[in-house]
Amino acid sequence: MPPHLPDLLRAANRVLVFTGAGISTECGIPDYRGPKGVWKTRQPVYYQEFMESEDARVEYWDQKASDWEQYRDATPGRVHAACVALERAGKVVAVVTQNIDGLHGKAGTSPALLVEIHGTNAQVECQSCSKRAHPDPCFASFRESRKAPRCDCGGLWKPATISFGQQLKQEELRRAGDAAVSCDLVVALGSTLSVYPAASVPLIAAQRGTPYVVVNRGPTDHDGFEQVTLRLVGDVGELFGAAVDAALG
Ligand SMILES: [Zn+2]
Repeated sequence: MPPHLPDLLRAANRVLVFTGAGISTECGIPDYRGPKGVWKTRQPVYYQEFMESEDARVEYWDQKASDWEQYRDATPGRVHAACVALERAGKVVAVVTQNIDGLHGKAGTSPALLVEIHGTNAQVECQSCSKRAHPDPCFASFRESRKAPRCDCGGLWKPATISFGQQLKQEELRRAGDAAVSCDLVVALGSTLSVYPAASVPLIAAQRGTPYVVVNRGPTDHDGFEQVTLRLVGDVGELFGAAVDAALG
């Protein structure tokens, strides 16, 4: 008999939740790679080009402006809510997400527990002084002037996502790694587990013998790994939402 997810959640006190794009498909988040995705018709702008060329920056901001309101107005889904419920029950050590939609934060996951490994679209960050701000004024100024918005310090604002060719933040990787070695259950939700180093986070935990649950509608790159304790196939919002309800009920 395979273990039952509500039982695993009930027994755990330090859950590491790892999430990917599949948890936000019900939230109105644009799919860059899908049939209507921006990258079907346009090339991604690499970080170095952004830093060196105003033309590249204008192209970058133009792409980001095309779906900013969709990101800004998206509402959290059932997995985001279930993560908050688990946190309030004192069971979460970290929520590590590959998503840049900011929806875990919007749902109420504490900043201290949230690791956005690929950054977030919900803020802009100055590339010189690292100050962060709400993106709305940048998009308004870009649409009016068609110039890359700049911080008071003269530095370049950029959505606080990790761009192509940009290093992941060491501090975020360290926080994710710390959670991976201290959790007592790891759950990967809505991720194909195909993007590294992000996908190594749950694996680090699993390789230490921590029970590892993978919930995703489609196949994942960790399918068939002996470290996977339980694999559920189906709607991640429904499956994880129901399991958290049952565990806390
Ligand atoms: Zn600045």
